[in-house]
Order: sequence, then C-alpha cells, then structure tokens
Amino acid sequence: MDTILRIDMGAEGGPKANATAMGGYAGYGGRALTSAIVSKEVPPLCHPLGAENKLVIAPGLLSGTTGAMSGRISVGCKSPLTGGIKEANAGGQPSQVLARLGYRAIVIEGKPQGDDLYKVFINKDGVKITADNSLKMLPNYDLVEKMKAEYGDKIACISIGPAGEMKMSAASVACTDMELRPTRHAGRGGVGAVMGSKKVKVIVVDDSGMPMRTPKDPEKFREANKRFVDGLKSHAVTGQGLPAYGTNILTNILNEVGGYPTYNFKQGRFDDAAKISGETQAELEVKRGGLATHGCHRGCVIRCSGVYHDKDGHYLTKQPEYETVWAHGGNCGICDLDAIAKMDFLDDNYGLDTIEMGATIGVAMEAGLAKFGDAEAAINLLHEVGKGTCIGRILGNGAAFTGKAYGVERVPVVKGQAMPAYDPRAVQGMGVTYATSPMGADHTAGYAVAQNVLKVGGDVNALKPEGQVDLSRTLQIATAAIDSTGMCLFIAFAVLDQPDTFQALLDMLNSFYGLNLTGDGVTELGKTVLTMERDFNARAGFTAAQDRLPRFFRTEPISPHNVTFQVKDEDLDKVFNW
Ligand code: SF4
Repeated sequence: MDTILRIDMGAEGGPKANATAMGGYAGYGGRALTSAIVSKEVPPLCHPLGAENKLVIAPGLLSGTTGAMSGRISVGCKSPLTGGIKEANAGGQPSQVLARLGYRAIVIEGKPQGDDLYKVFINKDGVKITADNSLKMLPNYDLVEKMKAEYGDKIACISIGPAGEMKMSAASVACTDMELRPTRHAGRGGVGAVMGSKKVKVIVVDDSGMPMRTPKDPEKFREANKRFVDGLKSHAVTGQGLPAYGTNILTNILNEVGGYPTYNFKQGRFDDAAKISGETQAELEVKRGGLATHGCHRGCVIRCSGVYHDKDGHYLTKQPEYETVWAHGGNCGICDLDAIAKMDFLDDNYGLDTIEMGATIGVAMEAGLAKFGDAEAAINLLHEVGKGTCIGRILGNGAAFTGKAYGVERVPVVKGQAMPAYDPRAVQGMGVTYATSPMGADHTAGYAVAQNVLKVGGDVNALKPEGQVDLSRTLQIATAAIDSTGMCLFIAFAVLDQPDTFQALLDMLNSFYGLNLTGDGVTELGKTVLTMERDFNARAGFTAAQDRLPRFFRTEPISPHNVTFQVKDEDLDKVFNW
C-alpha cells in the first residue's frame, strides 16, 4: 500500500521516521501532493528555515511505472526566496525509485537540536537515519561518490551541497541521474536551504527487490503508453529538435525573435549567440566524445539531455540547459561554452540554482563587481558562494538580495525570484506567467513561448498584450496538472498539439488507477492546485501588488523591437478568474 513517509527531525531522542496512510491526500501526486501538504500543514507566516516549515518530496502519479517520461520528482515547502509556496521539480532517478519503494511522498518536519548532519537511507527493509558529520560541506559530486562507496551503485541520491548547508536562498536539491551523477536539480526557490535547515544532507534510496508499480489494467496501460510514445516521437519538437540539440536549441530561436535577454535584460539580442547555441554545443559534445542525446532517467524517450566533455575529452558536466547557457552566457555577456559548462558544474557541485545564480551575477556585473563578458570573474564569484565568504553569502541569496546589497535598480525578479531566459517585453505571454505564477518568475509555470514563439498549440503575437492573459491562464492550469503526474513538462509540446497524444496520457492515468478522467478533469486538477497555492500565498501576506513585473519592464523599451511590457495591471488580476 502506498504511504507517506514522515521524518520528524526534531523528535525527542533523535530523528524518527513513520509511514502514514495517504488519508485526505489520496489521489494526489507530484506538485498536487506537495502543494496540498504545504498548504494544509505549514503555517503560512512561519519562518521558511524554522521548525514549522516542512520539506515535501513527492514522485508523480505515474512515477515508478513502465510509463514513459514519468520520472519527475516534486520538492515543495515555504520558499526562503519568495516567502510563498514553492514547488520545484527535477528529473533523474529518485522519483522512480521512491515510488517503487511504495512512498508517495517524504515529508521532512521539525528541526534537530545540535550541529549534527544526517543521512537517510531508505530501502525495502525500512528507513535508517544516521548522524554523519564526515559529510559536512561536501560538494554534491564527492558526496555521491561517498554514498556509492558505502551503499553500492544501485542507489539514487537526493542531496544538498554546501549552499544548502549554508541555507542560501539560491540552494537547490540535487537528484542523481542514470549514471549516478548529481546533475538534475530542483533548483528554484531555495528548496535546498530548507533541506539544510532540517540538517538532512542526503537521502539515499535503493529499490533493489521491489517490483514496478502495477496498473489496474496492465493491457490498456501498455497500449496507451505505446500510443503516447509514438505521439512524442512523431512531433517535431519532442521527436527531433530536443533530442538532437537539447533545450539549448532555443538560443538561436529566442535570439532571432529578439527575446533573448542580454547584459542583465538590457537588449533582446546577443551578437555572439551563435557561439553558445545548441547547434554549436551539440557539435562540440560529439567532437569531444561526450553525448548530444541522452535521457536523464530511465523511461525518457525524448532524451533532451547530454554529456559535456572538456577540451581533453574528460567529463566536465551534463549538457547545460538553455536557461543555464543563457543565465551564465548571454545574460552576463559571456560567449565561451567551456566557461559556461564549468559554471554549470560549479552550480551542481555547490548545489545552486543555475538560473538564480546567472541572474545574480548579471546584477553583480551591473553593480560593477565584475565586467560583462568576463568569464573568469564570473567563475570566481561562484567560488565565493561555494566558500561562503561574505560576498558569496550575498550572491548565494539570489538576485533580489544582491541588488539590494549593492543598490541596483534594474533587478529582474518577481516575488524575489529571478526571471529566466525569455524577455517579458518581447515574449509578453511569459511576462504574464512571470508576474502571476504563485511560484514567482518561473518559465515552466506556463510556457507561453510555445504559442508566442514556437507556434505550437496556437499562435498568439508575442509583442502584443492581446490574448496573453487567456494564454497564460490555460498554460498555468495545464502545467499544474502535468507537474502532478510526474511527467516531464516537455511532453506538453506533443500533448498540446496532438489530441491523440493527450488522450493517450489520459488513458495511461485511467488504466493505471481505474479512473474515468477526462480533459475537463485534468483542467479541474490544475485549477485545484493553483487555488491551493494562491490561498497559501494570500495567507502568507501576498496581494495583487506581488503579481507585477519590476517597473523597468514598463518604462525601458527593449531592442530590437523597441517594445515595453504592455499587459495592463487590471488584466493581470484576471489570470485566475475562472
Ligand atoms: S526530456 Fe529531457 S528533462 Fe525530460 S526526462 Fe528526458 S532528458 Fe529529462
């Protein structure tokens, strides 16, 4: 029977684990489950790093099955970065492993007395929580090697690096990939700082001896999964573009449409974009013996990931994502793929969100801490963060904190969270999502680039305000539902474009759980999740004033289209009217 594993780090006599029934949370997975638990059990006015906050780690509804693409894991809490509810999700192996162990979620509660740091080991025989101070301040790669030496290589790890231990608001939670490398991160919102505040360094999961989760109707599930995979393979984005070039295929596309924020959101095109494009990156990876096509977990058929080798042909990092290449690249005026890959590695190793750190370094460059284009200086700033120096602790707390510390006016954040790689003036639908998502500025919360730029699932003019509110609403609802299934969000391209592929996804859910879910049911699930999240934020003190972009996006036109963000405030307030 599926259960929720509750780990009380503040229990008398030391941390204790207890498996509890799903109760009122039955039927929820992924983001729906993390947001339901946080919304119901965490006092909205609590300190995010205090004992009252909870860190919820939940596989999706179809994780642990033979269903393709079903390996996302959601991490939720009250965010130390935004002060609101947070769900950040990641790929990698832990979601499948945790689900096969029969856990629908791990809830880490309370806070231990003293300075001990803990590791948690979970397998078919139960849960073991041990103090292990030899792990203190270990970067993620060394930590995973140590866990491998101790528990073997059939494990998966969920961990924090030094940034999480130092409780920095840009700290991520790392998940290991198929090669047991800590490369997939629940990056956003400082979820790693909350794990650090609970003094949990690593959760090691081992599903040896556990079977795949079994559908109620295995034959129908198998048939639906086949149709789903066929649909993904036949779509141009999920079947060709993403596998060939990874997400970084977007560099040339966004640059071409003038939506590529450059020099801390000063212009919409980067002269050197071609040097750091997905096409250039893939060519280099293959030439050096890395991989341009790779899955981040078993069962991924899109395989947008890759492996990046250095000049000598040695592993340097996984293929940096588009948003990472932008954050450490064009946003900082840097056009050196090796330097960007090095920063991607440092972020993963220290346990930091690449988007937040790239945006933060952009703000630091605007403040004069380094020159735009100076890759060496940017790398040094990241080392300051990893070492926890005074300047490093400022930077490690994100773009908003850094902007305040150095008196910078142009700080691209919403609800304290840095904007990703799409300028909201040139891609106005993204501006609506950034402004209104309960998560703060987050491209994955409602990816309007699909219709504004890629023309997948519709066509809404990116430069005009008309239609953007309706578009963002629809996408935010759909995304909240997809994030609950455990499916990688990239399925959305095929699901939005091809009714048969959407139906196949519904058939997978229905045959697995014995349900009769329709498209309307999926919409209702998405609305329910967003309503819970908005309700938490309202109780935490958020009002419509937080659903806004920074002022300079309305006053500073961006080249090449010479356009400002034009969606009216009163229209932003209608996004959640349904
Ligand atoms: S498509 Fe990319 S991000 Fe999604 S599961 Fe596959 S490799 Fe991971």
